[in-house]
Amino acid sequence: LAIAPTQLQNEQVSLSASQQHYLRRVLRLQTGDRIILLNGQGQAWLAALQEGATATILEPYILQTELPLDVSLILALPKNGFDDVVRACTELGVSCMIPVISDRSLLKPSPQKLERWRRIATEAAEQSERQTIPPILEPIPFAKSLASSPDARSFIAVARGTWPHLLTAVAADSSPSAIQIAIGPEGGWSAAEVEMAIATGFQPVTLGSRILRAITAPIVALSLVTGVLES
Ligand code: SAM
Repeated sequence: LAIAPTQLQNEQVSLSASQQHYLRRVLRLQTGDRIILLNGQGQAWLAALQEGATATILEPYILQTELPLDVSLILALPKNGFDDVVRACTELGVSCMIPVISDRSLLKPSPQKLERWRRIATEAAEQSERQTIPPILEPIPFAKSLASSPDARSFIAVARGTWPHLLTAVAADSSPSAIQIAIGPEGGWSAAEVEMAIATGFQPVTLGSRILRAITAPIVALSLVTGVLES
């Protein structure tokens, strides 16, 4: 369960109504049952559920569930289905998601949508026992995102053309400090966007011979990268 600093006082954690509902009604836990608490920034504790709305911290809990290096995704916002992208990519270990407005994607999403995606990322991080909750940044224009992580090994997934496979490209680089991958919207990247990304140091890559949906591609890209990093 992810907790905010304000919920923790003297080894006692006050649980919100939705957290109590999740623990008692969804997971069917009872008083005395053990739960893992995460602060979303790398710390975790084993705690015991108490009567009412509290849990007591018992001891620090060592979790080692993060990828060995940061893998972030630059994601042109699809029309639908971004909830699933956020959920699956969080489970797969993404370190940061940067939604971008591209030539062929929609207008900026509402603050409510962003809040919803952040809530989904928190729930997915809880369920997959991650040490950190990946941030979902405010949407920015694609051009601006290209400069967001200058030290990372950067890839842009391009659906058509003859490009090296992402798997081979990641495996060929023995020690990148971080990785970032840009995935386009339903209509794909414009030629100008691909050129701009290449000029900024992004390597164009394929994810295979078939054209994947905009909401499938980030999940596949992340699965390929985690396969290389964790095997
Ligand atoms: N009609 C678009 C085109 O021709 O580019 C297809 C776009 S695809 C539905 C959405 C995005 O997923 C693409 O911009 C790309 O980033 C990624 N993608 C999908 N399939 C891919 C593949 N086989 N290789 C590389 N990227 C892929």
